[in-house]
Amino acid sequence: MTTAKPDKRTQFSIWYFVAVLLLLFLLPDWLSNQPHTIRYSEFRALVATGELRDVSVAAEEVTASVPRSQLAAYLPSGALDGIPTGNGDLIRVRAVRVEDPGLLPLLEDAGVAYSGISENTWLTSLLSWLLPLGLLILFWSFMLRRMSGGLGGSGSGSMMSIGKSKAKVYMEKDTRVTFEDVAGVDEAKAELQEVVDFLQDPEKYSRLGAHIPKGVLLVGPPGTGKTLMARAVAGQAGVPFLSISGSEFVEMFVGVGAARVRDLFNQARGMAPAIIFIDELDALGRARGANPMMANDEKEQTLNQLLVELDGFDPSSGLILLAATNRPEILDQALLRAGRFDRQVLVDRPDRIGRAQILAVHVRKITLARDVDLDHIAALTPGFTGADLANLVNEAALLATRRNADAVILEDFNAAIERIIAGLEKKNRILSEHERRTVAYHELGHALVAMSLPGVDPVQKVSIIPRGISALGYTLQRPTEDRFLLSEEELRNRMTVLLGGRAAESLIFNMTSTGAADDLQKATAIARDMVTRFGMIPALGQVTYETAPQGLMQQRVFSAERQYSEATAEAIDQSIRQLIDQAFNSATGILTEHRDTLDSGAQRLLEVEVLSGEALQELLRNEARPATLHST
Ligand code: ADP
Ligand code: MG
Ligand code: ZN
Repeated sequence: MTTAKPDKRTQFSIWYFVAVLLLLFLLPDWLSNQPHTIRYSEFRALVATGELRDVSVAAEEVTASVPRSQLAAYLPSGALDGIPTGNGDLIRVRAVRVEDPGLLPLLEDAGVAYSGISENTWLTSLLSWLLPLGLLILFWSFMLRRMSGGLGGSGSGSMMSIGKSKAKVYMEKDTRVTFEDVAGVDEAKAELQEVVDFLQDPEKYSRLGAHIPKGVLLVGPPGTGKTLMARAVAGQAGVPFLSISGSEFVEMFVGVGAARVRDLFNQARGMAPAIIFIDELDALGRARGANPMMANDEKEQTLNQLLVELDGFDPSSGLILLAATNRPEILDQALLRAGRFDRQVLVDRPDRIGRAQILAVHVRKITLARDVDLDHIAALTPGFTGADLANLVNEAALLATRRNADAVILEDFNAAIERIIAGLEKKNRILSEHERRTVAYHELGHALVAMSLPGVDPVQKVSIIPRGISALGYTLQRPTEDRFLLSEEELRNRMTVLLGGRAAESLIFNMTSTGAADDLQKATAIARDMVTRFGMIPALGQVTYETAPQGLMQQRVFSAERQYSEATAEAIDQSIRQLIDQAFNSATGILTEHRDTLDSGAQRLLEVEVLSGEALQELLRNEARPATLHST
């Protein structure tokens, strides 16, 4: 929010305009008053005529006035064309002096009056250094203006105000967002309700001498509604909402960011009670000195200023500072200590019930068919954040619009989920017959392994319709419930499913392809975590070998990345390999056992491109019959 004074910038350019106009008018005049330059020899000849007037002799040149007719006689014809006359018929001429001791006697002889000129050089010399200096300053301030945001434009033109905040503070008197609009994060809401109460009735809190925390930090993954939550607090309390994003503080010039912080708080003080919201706090509050290779004075200054302001404001003034980050671990400890952002509110990914509530908020805007069961959709979307769900509702509505339907039905939601999960359908990508066969076996390999293992998310669908940027086919597994705790067994099974694709390829075609790259990466990540984080390898003990995660480098900056011996490193590598090998072998085992289903399933998949989970179950059951006959 920058107050709109009469625009300094336009005033500025009007002055430029006037100056240029003046110049345009004066220049020809001034040019025409310049003496006409002639040769020295010609000058001498003119002296001899005795017609010269007002001869001035200076160190560098001689000037004189000559009647036009006289001058014309001594110059090449046409040389005087277009030269205006000064006084009467006189033309002013000048000649550069040559070393000529005979000049004075010559003047004497001709009886011409002459005078010397003491050259007045201070003006020219002053100009000669003032002008470049002035230009430099102009250029410099122009660059400053350019770089320091160029946004606010309220810079008051004067040099002294460089760095005076052009803070792009975003101010809303009324956010028109309330807690009604935020769903599925009830704990966070409950915590922030206190802040709302305080803003509405500060006296209530001062009654017993308690004071509300100055700073509340909203922590959570991107898209979970932190920004929304902050606006809702302001809306709920009915106070102005001043927000700025931490990334906007990342400025080129030291001191600018700090000035912005100061400005932000000053503005807010004038509006209290109010909410100051700093989004993406991590961009600004990154631990100081965390990376000595890239010392960043600017950030440190800005951060220090923020700390100063945090300490400086009186909680009873009715200002509450909210901030949001998705990386609390990299924040400077000084920000988190008591009395600053000591209250941290977790805004986490919503659970199933929360997702249903968020969906309910967003479907208010669309026309929904009766049959749509939001609980069902919520069950299909574990891991989705509020932003994902908002996007989902919109996608579904778009699909329904494309159908020219009257309302959005469940099918639209299913298609939208698939779209979001797997990327856009690309039917027109053409695969060779061999590639299609490979993809079919690969995907079916995943599916069959998944269906044969306990505790693995059930297979919903297998498809060999290429989607998105890189997936040639995909196997969709949908979790039945949100999972927070996984056993070693389950992790191993996941890896086995991931390697099912590659196992099928090598079993059928006796070759490997690039199609498994993504699977291998995921499987390796799981294996690495099992070894280095979860302590699941007896030989390595219950020890974590994980290198310091990004944020905890407060002190351990750039210390040796690895904190274990060479031998351990080797053991880790081997264990990871072993885990993958085991997973691959059991995948191959399962597929060998179900070889017939693999073949028939792949055949079927090539025909219809998509197989549902039920269809796959059916295939497996058909196969199982002879086997059971055998065993009995
Ligand atoms: P964050 O700041 O955590 O990255 P945002 O607050 O910007 O996420 O959320 C983006 C959008 O997602 C919001 O504008 C809103 O439409 C939707 N959204 C996110 N979380 C929720 C929620 N809990 N309830 C309702 N809508 C949500
Ligand atoms: Mg945000
Ligand atoms: Zn795969």
